[in-house]
Amino acid sequence: MIPYGRQDIRQQDLDAVIEVLQSDFITQGPVVPQFEAALAEKSGAAHAVAMNSATSALHVAVAALGLGQGDLMWTTPITFVASANCGRYVGADVDFVDIDPDTFNMCPKALAAKLAQAKAAGRLPKVIVPVHMCGQSTATREIAELVRPYGIRIVEDASHAVGGSYLGQPVGSCQFSDITVFSFHPVKIITTAEGGMALTNNSELAARMESLRSHGITRDPARMTHDPDGPWYYQQVELGWNYRMTEMQAALGLSQQERLAEYVHVRNVLADRYDQLLANLPLDLPGRLQGAHSAFHLYVIRLHDAARRSSVFESLRAEGIGVNLHYIPVHLQPYYRDFGFREGDFPAAEDYYSRVISIPLHATLNEANQHAVVAALKKALS
Ligand SMILES: *Cc1c(COP(=O)(O)O)cnc(C)c1O
Repeated sequence: MIPYGRQDIRQQDLDAVIEVLQSDFITQGPVVPQFEAALAEKSGAAHAVAMNSATSALHVAVAALGLGQGDLMWTTPITFVASANCGRYVGADVDFVDIDPDTFNMCPKALAAKLAQAKAAGRLPKVIVPVHMCGQSTATREIAELVRPYGIRIVEDASHAVGGSYLGQPVGSCQFSDITVFSFHPVKIITTAEGGMALTNNSELAARMESLRSHGITRDPARMTHDPDGPWYYQQVELGWNYRMTEMQAALGLSQQERLAEYVHVRNVLADRYDQLLANLPLDLPGRLQGAHSAFHLYVIRLHDAARRSSVFESLRAEGIGVNLHYIPVHLQPYYRDFGFREGDFPAAEDYYSRVISIPLHATLNEANQHAVVAALKKALS
């Protein structure tokens, strides 16, 4: 089976993890801050806060922005459920903005229309979570221009887009947002097994997120209600969680991130080759946003004929091609239907879902694998 996504673990990664295991600290040691510093530098953000998953980082990010009960959060329906669930963790209501059919990302036109309606109804969101679907940046500048007049805060879910860029800046620089979140799940661009990170240029938000990832505890006298009782002293100043990343995970990530540019390059070479090999088939190929360089986490094809999607998908699996589907629209999940969402609510997302298949794309895929994928696809379509 040629998998749709796979990690690339090399000897230097193994050595780095073993070194940590033989050291004095396997959690809360020096490597987590080193990994944070490396990614803050690569992405051009002032602060980075590592966590045990992107899901945790999204939870902490919206909590740090003060999202809570009675508030509203918007995201896109074409994403992993975690982009929406973070709002629910803090008791906020979640709603969605339909996608742009060319980029699969939140559509700025749909957002403008929904904002006008929300303003008229007197219920604007407090936080918006655009997602960089497949690794291609969302149109964050347009989104920021639309939401800023209302004081709406932006959390970029860049789980797919570590190593990508947008308008000359790395994704993660937070040039148009408050916080950006990365995932290091094994299918993503670089991995720590489980792991995630929140980046920001705002030192207050960074301190709040550091506190929330570790029980709401602080050792900073400036954040305490009175002077420390002694050198052992800490205070719990709010309610947080244990969302810390271990030293082993950080060692793996620190080693992996040295190859970030190489991984993104390889993924783009593979994507360009798919573009050529698939050009004359009855498919729509991924669109490219001008001014953005995708990290190409996923290569998603759309069949012209939705009625054939299931049979093409099954025939590819039968040929040993590990295809997958990203994503089932979040508003149609039973958990979200219970809030009243229905078929027809987000037509572009639902049309997308009816036609897509994710074909294999990862850093260890080779040209022969790609020819095998394309041959199987041609057979399935014929
Ligand atoms: C993978 C993913 C997440 C969750 O990442 P974890 O690190 O597995 O928690 C969130 N959002 C998107 C868009 C993802 O693809």
